[in-house]
Amino acid sequence: MSETTPVTPKPCHKCGAPAEVVKAGSRRFWVQCSRYAGQGTCSAIGSQADNRKEAIANWNKIR
Ligand SMILES: [Zn+2]
Repeated sequence: MSETTPVTPKPCHKCGAPAEVVKAGSRRFWVQCSRYAGQGTCSAIGSQADNRKEAIANWNKIR
C-alpha cells in the first residue's frame, strides 16, 4: 500500500500553470489548474476521487 505516487500534482497540461488540489468535504478531492474558474483562463480539471493521492494520480495521467 506504499506506492510511489507523487504528493504534488504536475503543472497544468494545458497552460503550464501550477495545479492545485481542491478538497470538498471529507472524501471529495480533485486537482484543477490554478487558473481555473477564478482566473477564468483555463478549463483543466481532473477527475474527482475520494482521496488526495488518487485525485493527483487522475490529474497526472491527463494528456
Ligand atoms: Zn491550466
